Amino acid sequence: MRIAKIRKPLKLQNKGDLEIAFIGCGTAFGKELYNNNFIIIKGETHLLVDFGMTGPRALCMSTGLSVSDIGNLFITHSHADHIGGLEYLALQNRYYSQTVLNKPKLRMIITKEYQKILWERSLRGGMEWNESSAQGVQLKFEDYFEAVRPTLISKSPRLTLEIDFEGLHLEIFGTNHIPDNAKNQNEAFLTYGLFIDNKVLITGDTKFDIDLLNYYGPKSEVIFHDTSFENNPVHPSINDLKKLPKQLKKKMYLMHYGDNWKEQKVDDFAGLVKQGYRYIF
Ligand SMILES: [Zn+2]
Repeated sequence: MRIAKIRKPLKLQNKGDLEIAFIGCGTAFGKELYNNNFIIIKGETHLLVDFGMTGPRALCMSTGLSVSDIGNLFITHSHADHIGGLEYLALQNRYYSQTVLNKPKLRMIITKEYQKILWERSLRGGMEWNESSAQGVQLKFEDYFEAVRPTLISKSPRLTLEIDFEGLHLEIFGTNHIPDNAKNQNEAFLTYGLFIDNKVLITGDTKFDIDLLNYYGPKSEVIFHDTSFENNPVHPSINDLKKLPKQLKKKMYLMHYGDNWKEQKVDDFAGLVKQGYRYIF
């Protein structure tokens, strides 16, 4: 794996390598780092994973791209640092990119179950009222996004789905992120992580979950794991992750971390994910 600074504008195609470009690597509450959102690129395709409230600015500052360049999306869960920029992205696509630039409708890899949650509980408030509301017609999820469905592999012991998307293989699994007293993934609010091309684990947001690491850890070439430098009820603390076996830590990059990252000792790990950098496999 090679790490390189993003040269602007970031190219959304490559010769076929798997590439992960972090437009941000910070927490929901950071003031300096952008939200932990990234773009997967492989061959002719790209997939923006999450677009939080810092998304529109982060995309421009970290990659030199504009939201009109984005065609494909995957959302891990409904916290604002993961979906806060979606309304901006979707409105721009519908009222500018499609009409002025002739771009296609945004495509989103999403389950039926999560589509309902995302639309009904988050996006609908700002996005259903529109030019035809006077005629009693409100917009729906499908007016903004073309849904691409993954296939269910199993519901238990952990929700797992998969999809082959234009040469990119994604295994999508459920994580135990919130609430803090959910004992396992099935009790938790729907939150997804990704295992990409059978070699890269991106936990998404999760509490410390040894079962997840026991299952995917040995199969992973590299692990991108969320962390918190302080004790945190819904993310693993860096001290919890430090207790993991050496062979896991040396392939683990920490992400979703606080602005006080310079004060941390992370020698045990492969390193901290760097905002504005590409990880190329
Ligand atoms: Zn979260």
